Amino acid sequence: MSTSVIGFDRLKDEYPLCPDFGSIYSEVLAGNRRAHIDFLLRDGYLFRGSTLCIPRTSLRDFLIWELHAGGLAGHFGKDKTIALVEDRFYWPSLKKDVIRVVSQCRTCQLAKARKQNTGLYTPLPVPHTPWSDISMDFILGLPKTSRGHDSILVVVDRFSKMAHFIPCSKTADASHVAKLIFKEVVRLHGLPQSIVSDRDVKFVSYFCKTLWKLFGRQLKFSSAFHPQTNGQIEVTNRSLGNLLRCLVGERPGLGIHCYYHHEVCL
Ligand SMILES: [Zn+2]
Repeated sequence: MSTSVIGFDRLKDEYPLCPDFGSIYSEVLAGNRRAHIDFLLRDGYLFRGSTLCIPRTSLRDFLIWELHAGGLAGHFGKDKTIALVEDRFYWPSLKKDVIRVVSQCRTCQLAKARKQNTGLYTPLPVPHTPWSDISMDFILGLPKTSRGHDSILVVVDRFSKMAHFIPCSKTADASHVAKLIFKEVVRLHGLPQSIVSDRDVKFVSYFCKTLWKLFGRQLKFSSAFHPQTNGQIEVTNRSLGNLLRCLVGERPGLGIHCYYHHEVCL
């Protein structure tokens, strides 16, 4: 493991004082490894086997969080997250700490609540990589900006839950929306494999055709067959709506309304 990572340097000062590693550290440092045959010092870092020992500090929770929800992490369950952390790091209460951090994760709590509410709906395929399966929805009826935007196109990556908020106009047609998705999402993340939208089938099929024309690749659409997926995007929209409401304040004439599209047109 690379020990040049910024922020890990302070570990060296924390080992001697750590209630978990203090005595092991001083004995290994003194060359007395007989009682601690699993441990060794390398460049001032304490290892147990090939895993880096992490002293009892807030760094432990930070590392768990990074491997559970940071960057490209996929909000895996507690067993998978324990395996990911154990693969790299060691401390005595590691398993217990991972279970605590994962059980406190808001994103996982919401996902679990949604799963219990899906009822008769067909579950969507579980995405395995970032930005391969996205959902899109619109927040309409916002105050018009100087550029004529009065709506926000919300695109959520179903894998990482990362969202893009793209300003657009209420009157934007399917081909315009396809071009926006191309410019703002595909340019950054590549072409998705599936797109979920609760817009009507006519909109989605025209949108699909335009994208298909743009990229020459067939897309797999779930369209209005999966209304339950909007749990994710509604939560995101709700937070954005609250944020905008806070920014706009209570000024009259600037009311914000969020509309969701749930009609199933076949
Ligand atoms: Zn999570």
